[in-house]
Amino acid sequence: MGKVVIIGAGLAGLTCAKVLKQQGWQDLLLLEKSDGPGGRVRTDVVDGFRLDRGFQVLFTAYPGVQRHLHLRDLNLRNYRPGAVLAKPGQAFLLGDPLRDLASGIPSLLNPLATPLDKLKILQLRAQLAQRSPEQVFREGLGGEDLSIREFLHQYGFSPAICQHFLYPFYRGILLDPDLNSSARLFAFYFKMMAEGSIATPALGMGDIARQLADHLAPDQIRYQTPVEQIEVEEGKVCGIRTRTGDKIAADWVICATDALQAQVWQQTLFKGLSDHSVHSAYGLEQPPVPIPTQARSVTCLYFRAPFSLTRGGYLYLNASGRGWINHWVELTHISPDLAPTGQHLYSVVVLGDPPLSDEDLAQTCCAELQDYFPKAPVEHLQVVRVYRIPFAQFVQPPGFQAHLPTVFSGIQGLVWAGEYTQQSSIEGSLRSGEQAAESVLKGGRA
Ligand SMILES: Cc1cc2nc3c(=O)[nH]c(=O)nc-3n(C[C@H](O)[C@H](O)[C@H](O)COP(=O)(O)OP(=O)(O)OC[C@H]3O[C@@H](n4cnc5c(N)ncnc54)[C@H](O)[C@@H]3O)c2cc1C
Repeated sequence: MGKVVIIGAGLAGLTCAKVLKQQGWQDLLLLEKSDGPGGRVRTDVVDGFRLDRGFQVLFTAYPGVQRHLHLRDLNLRNYRPGAVLAKPGQAFLLGDPLRDLASGIPSLLNPLATPLDKLKILQLRAQLAQRSPEQVFREGLGGEDLSIREFLHQYGFSPAICQHFLYPFYRGILLDPDLNSSARLFAFYFKMMAEGSIATPALGMGDIARQLADHLAPDQIRYQTPVEQIEVEEGKVCGIRTRTGDKIAADWVICATDALQAQVWQQTLFKGLSDHSVHSAYGLEQPPVPIPTQARSVTCLYFRAPFSLTRGGYLYLNASGRGWINHWVELTHISPDLAPTGQHLYSVVVLGDPPLSDEDLAQTCCAELQDYFPKAPVEHLQVVRVYRIPFAQFVQPPGFQAHLPTVFSGIQGLVWAGEYTQQSSIEGSLRSGEQAAESVLKGGRA
């Protein structure tokens, strides 16, 4: 079987390790540069508040989630289906009457979506129900892939529902202010929401990573161990070198780091990808597909208050088309365990990385919230922490699936694992980790 070293304990690396272990592979070691598992899916505890490193949710219908997570043990808390569309001083509920009867009447009366829009939502749902998640991800509804914006227009949604609901909602999912992302992702997420819940573990998203890490024995995972280099000899991987200079021999190296680190190694090993003699020396006819590194960034502000501002369990969307905030949620309505007793925790999301100090941004967000809730004592909100995440997802334009690398790196023994072989999501990272493990189990190729 040989020794496997996995670099990176994000969801991709953890899933890869779990699958190998379950298939009886004992000689494996996972090396992680930070002090815990999860990569982008971690939860910090600050003054008794449990803060995910950026607002993030789990779609329970993700096929990889169904295969790799024990949802019951995560003690999931569901968001209510739909969203509240907020304008200064006004809030309109757009729920999913098929799953939440109580939201039926207000949703039907919601003036920000036309009756035709509501029929279109049902029509799209029925069309997507006939296709598997994989088919939707690869082909959408069929035909040429478009940007989300183009698709929504072509499908016949009104400008009203786009501006008030669909745009802010999908901007929040894809962290894409212009909605130039692939419409196949729109279709995929639409299907995920129609067929499952949006949820978070009661103690925060970090529990997802912890559950995966629990499959490993303590001596199979080392934290605070950054890997400096992947060693290749005679066209084959032979191990890694850590930043402190330790060499670990391996028959397989799974690179499950973020795309930026993986791309540095890909460039180094293939000498910039453009030298024909390099990739042909590895027996490849073509240079490998470059690992995508164009990033989408996001900023998440956590506020605390001794009072509640919002209707329980709903995501709030900025339906005004103005301001910095894209969406917000009162997290303690979803899971009271995320804050000390008597406290309410709010997550406020701004797309990108605004050119304001944390303090100015927090003040600006509070002023915007005051417009939405004119009668609330918003001035009593206190910042708990601000997270700026420069690389939250990678850019996924129409047709992106055809331009992603596979898990097979081109070098015998070196396997890529990371969302960037699939799609920028928890599903993408789980699926990629699973495929990397399958590639090792099959002896090499993807
Ligand atoms: C704010 C935010 C919101 C998101 N929202 C959602 C959402 O709602 N739903 C959804 O499905 N997805 C969401 N995503 C995307 C999802 O979190 C990611 O797609 C997924 O976590 C990526 O996992 P990964 O294992 O591929 O990479 P990563 O999580 O980046 O893991 C890579 C790991 O490699 C380690 N590493 C890097 N270099 C080295 C080295 N040299 N040596 C050792 N270790 C190294 C890193 O420390 C890290 O732990 C969001 C992401 C962010 C940041």
